[in-house]
Amino acid sequence: MGEFRKSVTSDCARIVQVARRLLPVLVLSGAVALSACSAPQVENAPDGESRLGPQAAAAQFAQVASTVEPVAEKVCRRKRKDGRCNFRILVDTSPWRPANAYQTLDRDNQPVLIFTLALIADMRNPDELAFVMSHEASHHILDHLRKQREYSEAGAKVYAEAAARGGASPEQQKKAGEIGAEFGARSYSKTFELQADYLGAQIALEAGYDPLKGAMYFQRLPDPGEEFLGSHPPNAERLATVKRAVRAAKRKRGS
Ligand SMILES: [Zn+2]
Repeated sequence: MGEFRKSVTSDCARIVQVARRLLPVLVLSGAVALSACSAPQVENAPDGESRLGPQAAAAQFAQVASTVEPVAEKVCRRKRKDGRCNFRILVDTSPWRPANAYQTLDRDNQPVLIFTLALIADMRNPDELAFVMSHEASHHILDHLRKQREYSEAGAKVYAEAAARGGASPEQQKKAGEIGAEFGARSYSKTFELQADYLGAQIALEAGYDPLKGAMYFQRLPDPGEEFLGSHPPNAERLATVKRAVRAAKRKRGS
């Protein structure tokens, strides 16, 4: 699918130009040190599907970012007591990066949501983008980065200690610790994804978008299925979670 990649790259260059004029958010250049969630990646989106032009994609991103951010911040302040809710929404302008979204923290421990150009170009409508953005914000609101790090450290400790008790060499203990860290981090990965889908759907709804339409994005993703220790849950489970979240939110507000 070389042609697809080429067209994404040239589209991306134009999105950057338009984004610099339009976006009320910062545009980030170059590589960024990132961690935790990566949104599921779209592989080789088929040509011929309706795709926004670069101008429309940048305008859509600016519009959705400015609508979702205040709601994400409000929900964050309600759920987190540490006040780390000053979201910044950035674009990673490296044209070769695949479609992806991340959340990380800046030096002041404030949340940063980062979207690659390929992801922005791949969004078919504002509902999809709002859903992905709200999902990433939810990972921060629910403190998943910290929890994942803690599970990873705990896994490393348990495995390394078990290896030591079994008489393993320092090298083998180190290896066991690495396996334990991976196991610890992955054990809760699917749960975190579903939690972020649930809260993300409610944030997107509150921001005025249709999370069910947004979650149609999953239909275009390769389904990870029930892979043991896979990082993402099956698409059907994610869609069911979104539906449950929307029903609960609508019940709560009586509509
Ligand atoms: Zn995620």
